[in-house]
Amino acid sequence: MKPQGITLLGATGSIGVNTLDVVARHPDRYRVVALTGHRQVDRLYEQCLAFAPAVAVVADATAAAALTARLRSAGSRTEVWHGPAALEEVARLPEADMVMSAIVGAAGLRPTLAAAHAGKRVLLANKEALVVSGRLFIDAVQKGGAELLPVDSEHNAIFQSLPHGYAGDLDKAGVSKLILTASGGPFRQLPFEAMRHVSADDACRHPNWVMGRKISVDSASLMNKGLEVIEAHWLFNAPAERIDVVVHPQSVIHSMVQYVDGSVVAQLGSPDMRTPIAYAMSWPERIDAGVKPLDFTALSGLSFEAPDLQRFPCLQLAFDALAAAGDAPAVLNAANEVAVAAFLDGRIGFLDIARVVADTLDGVSLSASPDLDSLLQRDAEARVFARSCIAT
Ligand code: NAD
Ligand code: MG
Repeated sequence: MKPQGITLLGATGSIGVNTLDVVARHPDRYRVVALTGHRQVDRLYEQCLAFAPAVAVVADATAAAALTARLRSAGSRTEVWHGPAALEEVARLPEADMVMSAIVGAAGLRPTLAAAHAGKRVLLANKEALVVSGRLFIDAVQKGGAELLPVDSEHNAIFQSLPHGYAGDLDKAGVSKLILTASGGPFRQLPFEAMRHVSADDACRHPNWVMGRKISVDSASLMNKGLEVIEAHWLFNAPAERIDVVVHPQSVIHSMVQYVDGSVVAQLGSPDMRTPIAYAMSWPERIDAGVKPLDFTALSGLSFEAPDLQRFPCLQLAFDALAAAGDAPAVLNAANEVAVAAFLDGRIGFLDIARVVADTLDGVSLSASPDLDSLLQRDAEARVFARSCIAT
């Protein structure tokens, strides 16, 4: 069998590095076609030498020229392209059978849509892309004849727990609820007032997972779970009232599906993103992902609690945005991206994130069934509005 070609959007990030780890374990099955790294040029250089992609993509022409020079002197023939259009081009390359979408934030939307239109197997880590574009994304997958495989651990767990061949009809599949588990993040037990003073490093100290800084802050605010509710809505065609969130601090159960007969099917494993990445890559087969097997006798116990929407208002805001539909999720996401960046820079406090998102949802006018241009326009307006909330 010829190895399958893979393009990695966001190769230098946490998901990208884990994906390359899985690829390296199976050189007979996968070969790297393109890698993108935005501004992390040193890491991208090392990856190019190790995986010899045809193309690498960086943010701008200066970085591209510098990387090309370094690669040539090391004997590499990888071409270096740059800019947003190049991200879309590598997502469409005919040699790529699958595209890992692992850019963080709405910046990954266009290249992920390009992969969907081009009929690739889309391995979706970049939840923001789906949250922003919703119906348009699902339509692009269908029209392009693409395959959409969830990499987010909760959605990958639900995908594994749904009946094989699930085609978007919960009732027909006998499903009563999708149950997303949440670790609760580093501030699960912290009083509300104490959250006023937490630092970016405190927020990024996740109890169970090592991830990029933006998603780490989202996990601490529970906005990540809110984005995941919207993601689950689109991936599995599930209305909000059939998506539950339960806090499960040990992150052993990655999510569950409850059926009408009372059965609950769950997927369990060590908290290691290589499991969902490998499953999305190899589905319907399974491959070694290098993950430590779960040792049940070493587990101290599994516990569950309801999420506290008072202390974690971001989760409620996401449910509200999903109910408002149209471009509300895009506005929620854009405001959150701006607020999280400001928090990571030390310009606002942790509790200001929810305030900025709520004020932006109130302050930007919404529309019901936007096309891509108006979604991107609303995304831009929301960013301007959110920045004005931060400046005051
Ligand atoms: P990260 O910050 O570690 O990596 C982000 C990647 O995106 C890097 O390769 C970076 O160079 C690239 N990038 C950043 N800004 C860009 C821009 N403007 N244009 C082009 N490329 C850009 O993030 P991560 O933790 O790997 O997360 C990536 C995505 O996967 C996010 O959407 C996140 O929500 C999702 N996700 C991550 C995890 C995890 O365990 N890390 C789990 C589930 C879902
Ligand atoms: Mg997740």
